[in-house]
Amino acid sequence: MIHFQNVCKRYQGGHEALAGVTFHLQRGEMAFLTGHSGAGKSTLLKLVMLMERPSEGRVLVGGQYLDRVPARQIPYIRRHIGVVFQNHQLLFDRTVFDNVALPLEVMGTSPREVGRRVRAALDKVGLLSKERLNPVQLSGGEQQRVGIARAVVNKPPVLLADEPTGNLDPELSSDIMHLFEQFNQVGVTVLIASHDIALIRHLGRRVMTLANGQLRSGDFMPRENSLY
Ligand code: ADP
Ligand code: ADP
Repeated sequence: MIHFQNVCKRYQGGHEALAGVTFHLQRGEMAFLTGHSGAGKSTLLKLVMLMERPSEGRVLVGGQYLDRVPARQIPYIRRHIGVVFQNHQLLFDRTVFDNVALPLEVMGTSPREVGRRVRAALDKVGLLSKERLNPVQLSGGEQQRVGIARAVVNKPPVLLADEPTGNLDPELSSDIMHLFEQFNQVGVTVLIASHDIALIRHLGRRVMTLANGQLRSGDFMPRENSLY
């Protein structure tokens, strides 16, 4: 589903954020991306969601080479990729419902379908009863759930998350990771950047480690999830 072929990314100024990165994430797989701050985790995710382009190498998502995607088609490609950020980027001048509805409204979905889909997404994250509230009235963990509902509201086959538990205490972090597992169980391919090594190990999934822009060999892969 996500395939990096010898990818390098140099930002302006010459800094090499990724160097020779090659990996393959299978359809339906759930994996973690870890490494110290500045290791290149966000850069890798940005390449998947077409927020950045590689300097060298190629990225394939869902069987499509992203370097072949013309600029005007980027919004359509992004619809297939749900993204969750650490600071959840919610709009505080609208209700929970309207925040989750946003991606559907951009796509011109009918109001009836918007209502159905938003409620299905809020139900999955356990926030159906809070749809009329403003996000400021919610706890940090609940706000992150709203961000997740918004990321999955149009049922993307791929879900990316950049430090989704960065601001949460351990118990809430674990709950959020379990939510991602539930989406993965219904077939969504999930890639999560996180430096919470203790939590990641506990979940027993594939872990890819970046160090100074390079993927460390000896990718930790628990036997029950092994694809080789
Ligand atoms: P991580 O997510 O692991 O903390 P990043 O991908 O954000 O790492 O950053 C990798 C490296 O690239 C860092 O050295 C960072 O300073 C640099 N970097 C990230 N974004 C930019 C940018 N837009 N311009 C220049 N350098 C950047
Ligand atoms: P409907 O099929 O009527 O649209 P739902 O929205 O509840 O009803 O989705 C049906 C099933 O699809 C659910 O079990 C849901 O978990 C699953 N599903 C598949 N892909 C996704 C996704 N990316 N996000 C959320 N749910 C998904």
